[in-house]
Amino acid sequence: MSSDSEKTAPVARERGGFFAKVKRGLFMTHTEVLEKLSSAVKKSLGIDESVLELLEEALVAADVGAETASALTDAVRTRANGSERKDLAALRTMLREEIENLLASAPRPDRRTEAPLLVTFLVGVNGSGKTTTAAKLAAREIAAGRSVLLAAADTFRAGAIDQLQTWADRLDVGVVRHREGADPSAVLYDALSAAKARGTQTLLVDTAGRLHTKKNLMEELSKMRRIAGREVPGAPHETLLVLDATTGLNGLSQARRFVEAAGATGVVLTKLDGSARGGIVLAIYRELKLPVVFVGVGEAVDDLVPFDPSEYARALLDDEGAEARVQS
Ligand code: GDP
Repeated sequence: MSSDSEKTAPVARERGGFFAKVKRGLFMTHTEVLEKLSSAVKKSLGIDESVLELLEEALVAADVGAETASALTDAVRTRANGSERKDLAALRTMLREEIENLLASAPRPDRRTEAPLLVTFLVGVNGSGKTTTAAKLAAREIAAGRSVLLAAADTFRAGAIDQLQTWADRLDVGVVRHREGADPSAVLYDALSAAKARGTQTLLVDTAGRLHTKKNLMEELSKMRRIAGREVPGAPHETLLVLDATTGLNGLSQARRFVEAAGATGVVLTKLDGSARGGIVLAIYRELKLPVVFVGVGEAVDDLVPFDPSEYARALLDDEGAEARVQS
C-alpha cells in the first residue's frame, strides 16, 4: 500500500512515465521473444514463413487475439515481400507501423466535459481494481486542483466500503457510504445530493462487481445510470470499465455485458505490471470498441498512467528507444 508521500502530485511525476511504467507489461520488450525472432531471422536470412509463424505465436501469446494476430502477421508478410530490407529491425518497424495503423482507427477517449459536476462510474467484476482505481483517479483530480467526492456504492463485496474509506482518509476527501448490503442506488442518490450541495467538481462512484446474480447487477447499474442522469444533467459523464490485464482474453466476454448494460465509455486496464500480455489492448479495441483511457501499473496511488496509443505501439517493440526517451 502507499505512504503519505504518495499523496503528492501524481500528474507531475508522470512525465515520460508511460514507457518506464508499462514496458514490463508489454510482450515485445521481453528479450526472450526478441531473441527468438532475431535468431529465426538470422537462420532464414530474412523474413520467411518460419519467422512469421513465430511472430504470430508471440502475438497470440501476448493476448492480441487470434484474428488480430493473423491480420497483423498477414500485413507484415505483404510488406516484407515487397521490401528490400528483411532484418529484425525492419520486421519491428513493419509491425510497429501496422499496430499504429490499427490503433489510429481505434476510438479516442473524450474525457473532460465542461459539466460543473463531473460524474464518473467505475464498473467491472470483483477484484478488477475498481476501488483502487477510484482512489487513483481521486488523487489525479486533486492534483489537478479539483474537489472530489467518493461514493461507496459497492455495498456487496465485504470490505469494499472500508477500503474506499481508508483511501479517502489518506487522500483527505469525503466519502458517502451506507452500511454493507445497502441499496447501491440509495448510496448514489445521497452522493449526488451531497456533491450538488457542496459544489463538488468530481464525483467518483465505486460500483459493485457482483450482487446476488449477474442479471440483478446489470439491472442495478442501469437503474443507477438513470438516477444519475435524472439528478445531474448528462451524468454519468463517463463510465470506466475496469479490466484486469492478468485475466487475459477470458475477461473480455464478461466485459461485453458491462459495455451493453452499464454503457461503458472507456476502459481502465489494471495490473499491466503483473502481465506479460499487453497485447490485450488491441483485443479490447477490436472486441469492445472502447478506448483504453488509463492503465494501472501497481497498487500505489500514483500507479495510474493515461494511455497513449502511439507510445504504446513504440513501447511494444522498441525497448532501447523507449529507454533512451525515458532517460532524456
Ligand atoms: P475491486 O474489487 O474491483 O474494487 O478491486 P480492488 O480495487 O479491491 O483491487 C483488487 C486488488 O488488485 C487489490 O489488491 C489492489 O491493490 C490490486 N490492484 C488494483 N490495481 C492494480 C494494478 O494496477 N496493479 C497491481 N499490481 N495491483 C492492482
